[in-house]
This record gives sequence, C-alpha cells and structure tokens, in this order.
Amino acid sequence: MKVFKFGGASVCDADSIRNVGRVLQLFAPEKLVIVVSAMGKTTNAIEQMAGKAYAGLPWEAYMQQLAESHLQTAHELNLDKQTIERLIANLRSNLVNYKDLPFDQYYDQTVPFGELLSSALLSAWLQANGQPTTLLAAGDLLVTDKTWREATVDMEASIMAIQKQVIPALANGHVLTQGFIGKYSSAFYTTLGREGSDYTGAILAHALDAEGLWIWKDVQGVLTGDPKEFSDMSLLEELSYYEAIEMTYYGATVIHPKTIQPLRMKQIPLHVRSFLQPEGKGTVVHMDHVERAYPPVLVLKKNQALLSITTRDYSFMVEEHLSQLYRIFSEHRVRINLLQTAALSLSVCVDFIPEKLKPLREALSVHFKVTENTGLQLLTVRHYNQEVLDRLLGNREPLLTQKSRHTIQMALPD
Ligand code: ASP
Ligand code: MG
Repeated sequence: MKVFKFGGASVCDADSIRNVGRVLQLFAPEKLVIVVSAMGKTTNAIEQMAGKAYAGLPWEAYMQQLAESHLQTAHELNLDKQTIERLIANLRSNLVNYKDLPFDQYYDQTVPFGELLSSALLSAWLQANGQPTTLLAAGDLLVTDKTWREATVDMEASIMAIQKQVIPALANGHVLTQGFIGKYSSAFYTTLGREGSDYTGAILAHALDAEGLWIWKDVQGVLTGDPKEFSDMSLLEELSYYEAIEMTYYGATVIHPKTIQPLRMKQIPLHVRSFLQPEGKGTVVHMDHVERAYPPVLVLKKNQALLSITTRDYSFMVEEHLSQLYRIFSEHRVRINLLQTAALSLSVCVDFIPEKLKPLREALSVHFKVTENTGLQLLTVRHYNQEVLDRLLGNREPLLTQKSRHTIQMALPD
C-alpha cells in the first residue's frame, strides 16, 4: 500500500483538486492512503486571523475571505456547501470561546481548520467522482503530547490507532486524512510544526508498513538547490536517507526535517514527485548509502542573526559556560543553526525572530555580553568544490565560515 501526501500548492483551487483526482487515477485500482495540507496559503491566513482575534483586533475580514474562497471552491466543484459552512462556524466559535487559553494552545484550536476544510473538499470531490474515499480525522490517528504548535507524537499509541482505523477503512476505497494535526486528549487539537504534513505522511507509512511515501510537489523532485534562489539547479534522482536528513537539517525546505526518520526505521522509500508532471521520474530517498557521487547541493537560510556572546569577566568560554548557554537556548526554543567557539566568545547563527530573540538576549545578558548582527543569510554547500564557492560568493566576504570534509557553512550579508 502507498501513502500519498499532497501539499497546499497541489490543492490551492478547484482545478488543482481535480488534478489530484487525476493523479490518483494513474494508480487505479490501488487503494491509497492520502494526506492533505491546507489549501494554498490558508494556514498563514488563519495564523494571522488567530493572532488578531487573540489580541482583540478586528479579524472578520480574514474570516470572510477564508469562507469565500472555500465556498467558491465547493461551488466550482459542484459540492455540497454544508460541511464547509459547519467548519467555518466551528472555527468562528473556537476563535471566540478559547481566548482564555494560552496563545500557543489557542493557536492549535484554530489553525487546524485549514486542513479540516481542504480534506472535506477533497474527500467530497473524490467520493463524487468515482473514487470511494473514507475521511478519517487525523486527531483520532495521531496521539501527541501537549507541546502546543510543535507537538511530539506518541508513536506507540498513534501506530495502534492508525492500524485500527485505517486498515479496515481501506477495504472500502481510499483513506484520506489531514496532515499537520494531532490531538492531546480528546478535547484539544495539537499541531506538529509548520509544514508538518510530510511528517504525518511518514508516520502513517511507518505505522502501515507502506511500500513507500509519495510527496507530490510543484517541483520535479529534490533539486540541488531551491530554484527560487539559484539558477541552473538540477534534479537529484537518488538520495540516501542520510543525505536527505543532512539537507533538511541545514534548512532545505523541500521535505520537513522530521519526515525521514520514521521511514528509515522501516526502510520505506520516499518519492518526491511533481503533481504537474506525475509521470516524471522525481527523486527517490532510500538506503543508507547510494553509489553515485553527489553534485554540490546548496541550502540557503535567509533572515539570520549572528549573536556574539562574550564572557563578562574575560574567563575562557569553557564547558560550564557552554552547558549554561545551551540550556538557555533550549529553554527559549531557539534553534542554533551554526555555532563557533573562540577563547572568550561564542558565535551563534539563529533565525531572526524578534519575539523569540528578545527574551533570549535578556536571559543571556544576565551572565554574558551579547552583540547581534542581523540581515544575514546562512549558505550551506554540501559536497562543495572551489569553483562552486567562487561562483556563489563573488566578492562577498563571509562573517563566519565553518568547514568539514563534505560541508561548508557561511554566514553572509543578505
Ligand atoms: N498547512 C500547514 C502549513 O502550511 C502544514 C503543511 O502544509 O504541511 O504549515
Ligand atoms: Mg503547506
């Protein structure tokens, strides 16, 4: 059995939803397990709306736009509007009634509606067009802890729930569920972190011992770099799990970083394909080592800040300081993208998210002197060579460089 994941771009309007139906037809008469993300940029929109509603600012315009676009899609697809109207009403009531919860928990009771809406539309479309489909609630399949907005999946409980519900439902046709969403207890939704639907697909594939996970995207497969940032990128036809994990670790956004591990545990291949050219070869991620040599692979993280953290008393930056610093970073949930130690200081590259960095800097400043450089990008090149570095850098001078045999990372002016 195969697990398919369709991201936001593949279901962004009525035509795209029809196209998903065509992609599935190519695999007929197979019964598939399908994971879907919210339509287009819906998650961003609900995120903004929730922020406004929580702060007591006007949010009706967002709601109208959200309702309109989903109702319009239902209309173009000739589908019943009732489910969409009910979901919109539920979202509205959650926005109003959950305002006593801490914001992150409130977020998780509102943002999942993007996936609830898209899955309602896609399942109804498939059902109405000769592809019998059972819609299962992801909240009943993925059991998580209550780390709101970044929940940890309880694998054992989720595997049991998935096997119990998905396997019998497959007897009747496809099974469709929402990506990104889980539940903590029966009362509260949780989410797995932005772009987390890939990870949902991987957990389902793992639980069901699937023959593969197929992620359908608007690019041919995994390329040697983001084509929106670099020209002349080429397709990587084959990657090892190891290489894919390295790439996502450094910030390649083509696959969610948590996706590979559950697949690798069961040696389940991951196929990254284009929903626009479904017959194309795409990329396969499999095995621990692949024979072919990799070309240079570029990963760019924009909007970075470089923090220089210095001891106040000119004591060396040694183990005790480092463990203290790591603890402060971890308590503030700020991920370190690059780190370099010197005698008296530590340089750390992090995503520039002011609302997270301000409290972090305050905590660091109790014991250390902190300076900050912003407006940077972090460029990572796996399997680098001099020619590629010369071409990428031009006359830019990195503020910080770190180099191992296979990987070079450079903090550069944006
Ligand atoms: N809809 C969610 C997001 O945009 C999850 C996903 O797309 O994977 O982050
Ligand atoms: Mg998305």
